[in-house]
Amino acid sequence: SEAQAAETVWEPSPNDLESFWMPFTPNRDFKQAPRLISRAKDMHYYAADGRAIMDGTAGLWCSNAGHCRGPIVEAIQRQAAELDFAPNFQFGHPKAFELASRLTTLAPGDLNYAFFCNSGSEAADTALKIALAYHNVTGAGSRTRLIGRERGYHGVGFGGISVGGIAPNRKFFGTALAGADHLRHTYDREHQAYSRGEPEWGAHLADDLERLVALHDASTIAAVIVEPMAGSTGVLAPPKGYLKRLREICDRHGILLVFDEVITAFGRLGHAFAAERYGVLPDIITFAKGVTGGTIPLGGVLVRDHIYQAFMNGPEHAIELFHGYTYTGHPVAAAAGVATLDLYRDEGLFERALALEEMWADAAHALRGEPHVADIRTIGLVAGIDLEPVEGKPGQRGYQAMKTAFHDHDTMIRITADTIALSPPLIIGEDKIGQLFDATRRVLRALD
Ligand code: PLP
Repeated sequence: SEAQAAETVWEPSPNDLESFWMPFTPNRDFKQAPRLISRAKDMHYYAADGRAIMDGTAGLWCSNAGHCRGPIVEAIQRQAAELDFAPNFQFGHPKAFELASRLTTLAPGDLNYAFFCNSGSEAADTALKIALAYHNVTGAGSRTRLIGRERGYHGVGFGGISVGGIAPNRKFFGTALAGADHLRHTYDREHQAYSRGEPEWGAHLADDLERLVALHDASTIAAVIVEPMAGSTGVLAPPKGYLKRLREICDRHGILLVFDEVITAFGRLGHAFAAERYGVLPDIITFAKGVTGGTIPLGGVLVRDHIYQAFMNGPEHAIELFHGYTYTGHPVAAAAGVATLDLYRDEGLFERALALEEMWADAAHALRGEPHVADIRTIGLVAGIDLEPVEGKPGQRGYQAMKTAFHDHDTMIRITADTIALSPPLIIGEDKIGQLFDATRRVLRALD
């Protein structure tokens, strides 16, 4: 009965853990020894058993302002009480307009228009759809091919996996979008090992786009999408000059350039957007994660004037772009976004990340020579640490490192196969950077 149900005390048991099919997780292993997190504040998570866990990963690269920050929490509470939902199809509400104008002011160049969605995956698909539609409305409808890059990650939608370059994310799902192709990735340990910031070697790898143009012809190519720094596949900073060269080749052939800044925007590389750091203006930027500091799901794309204006030529009563989500520009998400941008500005968190970059790199590279370390790469407030894989068992050592860090060293680190990726909230200071890398050192020494 209802009364009985109300009296039932929730106790974690194997059965309770069973129902949730967890994403990107070995479910059976997790459920035997779960890593449950019950609350968070600033730089720390608190495990269900009460232990403080240092957040070395800003959650999933998103909690850039730290956790449960007062001004963001209050803005969310206020907005939920004042306007919980309003459609943005044919109607509108002030917060979404406010956030759009804040973002476009923050963005470089004439990235003057913002379209909202709810995640990085939707942002990638939105960007690719806008690119295709742009060529359609400008009379270049033969441009349907989308180009990504090996080791790229653009989320899990059909568009994103088509241009993404991670085999397991693709191979179980058929061919996804036909006609997608990929640039070669930019990592070469022989030429780039232990790089700090942008590797010196590798600008010429952008010329791979010329190869694809020669193969497919420019008239069939709509857009190229790359992460300025590839995060999810192990922290691959762009070689010096690479992104500029990619921009030049796109310009030469009328191909749109999309930067997927889901990770790199909002201070991770010391600027509002990586486009600013690299002095390269893409036609479209995707964002998500840090825009709300991870508090409420929100993603979107920023587009340049020529993209938006190309759609504005039909009859004024007609819809210009047949795309959108029920929760596009959700009021609570928009309020969280505005409050988060305020906090980044008021606390100077992007500048703080930039100022800490050298010190961060020193601390990370001091792990060189520790057991199993094969390469270390740093950029902004990000570090990638490649571990030698256990022979015949790729991914096992990385997975063990993540578990050891959490259970024995009170630290959340992120792994992708045998690479550790560290990307703390930008409120971190020198002390905590020291603590984070000390814990990582102890983890490395504890591994088989
Ligand atoms: N694009 C990039 C570059 C990402 O790093 C991610 C997530 O890590 C995504 C897209 C997908 O974002 P979401 O998980 O919010 O769909």
